[in-house]
Amino acid sequence: MRTPLIAGNWKMNLLRAEASALTEAIVTTTSQTNGVEVLLCPPFVLLDTVRAAIGDSDVELGAQHLYSEPSGAYTGEISATMLVDAGCKFVVIGHSERRQFFGETDASVRHKIKAALDAGLTPVVCVGETLEEREDGSTPKVIERQVSVALERFKPEEVAKMVIAYEPVWAIGTGKTATPETAQEVHAFIRNLISKSVDKQVAKGIRIIYGGSMKAANADELLAQTDIDGGLIGGASLKAEEFSAIIKAAS
Ligand code: PEP
Repeated sequence: MRTPLIAGNWKMNLLRAEASALTEAIVTTTSQTNGVEVLLCPPFVLLDTVRAAIGDSDVELGAQHLYSEPSGAYTGEISATMLVDAGCKFVVIGHSERRQFFGETDASVRHKIKAALDAGLTPVVCVGETLEEREDGSTPKVIERQVSVALERFKPEEVAKMVIAYEPVWAIGTGKTATPETAQEVHAFIRNLISKSVDKQVAKGIRIIYGGSMKAANADELLAQTDIDGGLIGGASLKAEEFSAIIKAAS
């Protein structure tokens, strides 16, 4: 049985007072729900604030990005051990906005996954096709390439520690959600790929979460799909009521 994971990707939003208030509201929701793992991924400078507001509740803390080197002359970057030191358990890797605006590649994603695993962080590895790729029918090819390169050379027990996020780029921040059937099809494709290229048991256990305009109004039907094990939520994670409703839909 895979425990659903509901993760909020706050992106570059919120100031400290807002972050505290939002976290406190989410902590209240999680105290009333069972069987869901809830993760908040604020910007780096809010990690401390969010950690304080999480207190001793079960809400998990994560980051949106890391750099693969352990330390050194990499101005502006943050290492995996720094994230662990800040209280993170998870880190999002290869988000399409990082690929689009900051030059992340399939290979850099793999290096970052390695750094995260070595430090004991759970990587949330993002994959997804663009609108053009969906329209020209290359979704399976793109997903297969992204997943294969990301997981290349990892042992099955390492892959078992990862979370995969399927995030069709055309659905992120656009209000256009993949239909539950479309999302399920890609999730099943990813699970099958992991089954064939890594290990059957790992494929059964790994969580594959969906991201792309998930909100209270569509969470139920997306989360009801066999291979959708949670959500990576951007816009709707900034609103306590919306995010709480998604957590409740998963519980
Ligand atoms: C995301 O940033 O990962 C995301 C899915 O954003 P949104 O929910 O706003 O589409």
